Amino acid sequence: MDFKKARERLISRIGAEIRDKRVLDTMSRIPREKFVTPDLQRSAYEDRPLPIGLGQTISQPLIVAMMTEALELTGKEKVLEIGTGSGYQTAILAELAATVISVERLPELAETAGTLLKKLGYTNVTVHVAEKTLGWPKEAPYDAIITTAGAPKVPPDLVAQLKFKGTLIIPVGSRYLQELFKVTRLKTKNKIQNLGGCRFVSLIGKGAWDE
Ligand code: SAH
Repeated sequence: MDFKKARERLISRIGAEIRDKRVLDTMSRIPREKFVTPDLQRSAYEDRPLPIGLGQTISQPLIVAMMTEALELTGKEKVLEIGTGSGYQTAILAELAATVISVERLPELAETAGTLLKKLGYTNVTVHVAEKTLGWPKEAPYDAIITTAGAPKVPPDLVAQLKFKGTLIIPVGSRYLQELFKVTRLKTKNKIQNLGGCRFVSLIGKGAWDE
């Protein structure tokens, strides 16, 4: 299968809805087929989530593009990702930001993604196995935080890890259906924009869902 051709077709379709050229350029370089198991590689350029084992999924490319665009990265940022999963979104962030810290709850996924990202040559990424508190407070504050799992509400523990005027992108809603929120940390009341409907696996932990 010609992955490069399939990738170009997918990115050109996504391009109808995404304006940020840096996001599209980056996604047209990253081999999504390497982030799924061999049996799913031929589906890697369909615009849909795919299973990555342990009940988790690699996110749909259009949603990945939307979330990344919403972060408005310039290349100087320190970004925190919650939910490494396959590492696909992590690779995109690594190309568009200065430093990426990614946390994953399931050690097996963290291990596989960390190894793959290293193999692909990313040196500005660290993958950690998640601890009790959501996010990764040890290296806070962050310019931007992206959560690739859905929460019942905006977790205060995550907002607390943002710099002033930093951005948090997070799906918020029920277990099965959410809306994508863009939260900007401000002095008194944080700004919240709703970017539209989405469907993510659950964010597990204190301040989110039970296992
Ligand atoms: N960006 C990933 C999406 C993976 S799905 C990709 O495209 O491949 C979301 C991931 O979030 C799952 O791997 C799940 O294990 C993880 N997750 C859920 N709750 C978490 C938490 N509290 N901290 C870190 N990771 C979490």
